[in-house]
Amino acid sequence: MIPFNKPFLTGKETDYIKDAVASLKISGDGVFTKKCHQFFENKYGFKKVLLTTSCTDALEMAAILLDIKEGDEVIAPAYTFVSTVNAFALRGAKIIFADSSKENPNLDADKIEQLITPKTKVIVPVHYAGIACDMDKIMAIAKKHKLFVVEDAAQAIDSYYKGKALGSIGHMSAFSFHETKNIISGEGGMLVINDEKYVNRAEIIREKGTNRSAFFRGEVDKYGWVDIGSSFLPSEIIAAFLYAQIENLEKIQAKRGLLWETYLGILAPISKGNFRLPVIPDFATKNAHMFYIVLNSLDQRTKLINHLRSKGIHSVFHYLSLHKSPFYKDKYKGAALEHSDLYQDNLLRLPLYFDLTLNEVEFICDEIMYFMEEYQSGIK
Ligand SMILES: *Cc1c(COP(=O)(O)O)cnc(C)c1O
Repeated sequence: MIPFNKPFLTGKETDYIKDAVASLKISGDGVFTKKCHQFFENKYGFKKVLLTTSCTDALEMAAILLDIKEGDEVIAPAYTFVSTVNAFALRGAKIIFADSSKENPNLDADKIEQLITPKTKVIVPVHYAGIACDMDKIMAIAKKHKLFVVEDAAQAIDSYYKGKALGSIGHMSAFSFHETKNIISGEGGMLVINDEKYVNRAEIIREKGTNRSAFFRGEVDKYGWVDIGSSFLPSEIIAAFLYAQIENLEKIQAKRGLLWETYLGILAPISKGNFRLPVIPDFATKNAHMFYIVLNSLDQRTKLINHLRSKGIHSVFHYLSLHKSPFYKDKYKGAALEHSDLYQDNLLRLPLYFDLTLNEVEFICDEIMYFMEEYQSGIK
């Protein structure tokens, strides 16, 4: 059986967790959390990093930091995970769904401006599969209309737009270390703040609305309730796990990249007329978070999933367009989102994880090829 995902362990996780436990400093913001913060700030040029207990939490922090309130409008793709928009809906925002682009599931930057109203406050681009949205266009629109940009970079660690790390371009960004992502801590995430003026308040919101972080740095002589907030910081046990992963980032990325290239190389000749391969725009890199194909129809995708399952291969589709979700469909008054719907029906993700072998990738691709031959001839 080839699963869709299998979390990779570097072997150091439990050693570091033991160290954290032995130090008897197991609540948040200890040695391992600081090491993680430093690593990300140095490697990717992020102004300020704060580990959180999830990407969802990081997005919720962003919504609080930007003072999102009832009636504000937030533009986000419909083809995304619920947390992208839930974080803002929680503050009372109205979500304005944008369509994906034709070439990949990222939101279509050329269709954003028509969605802007006097109530718009934030654009939330999602770098789907770790492939960059057109950030120059999005930042220019944001500047022109005085909007904030929060990158949902949950899938985008170690990926770039015109040489800049994803997550370093918007006012803020949110990453995930959920066990399905490239580097993991079980559950976990981080908020990146690129606009310095939000740093202080972010620390306060993350520490239950108190100025405890400033207190521990000796900047104030007592700490207390200074703002709204919640408990968004992870324990040192989670940071210790993450640090073991960070140390192996290059190794993890090299292997994932090799698997991704192998899929692409084998599937390219088979794809013609049968399915589309991922498109990486010139301005973007891949971080091999995911390998997906886009089939021609829902029928073809369903039958391919079943065929692969019969061979012990677990492939999975992805999001259901949020504007058609049970929670939102009655509230949605916008236009049809044809590309979002297309990815909902036709996109399929193939297994990709560190321990997957090149032989297994070849086996998966062979089975896709056999299926396509049968599907074309009407047998399937
Ligand atoms: C994984 C993911 C999230 C949520 O991450 P958590 O850490 O599980 O909260 C949000 N947005 C996108 C696009 C994701 O892929």
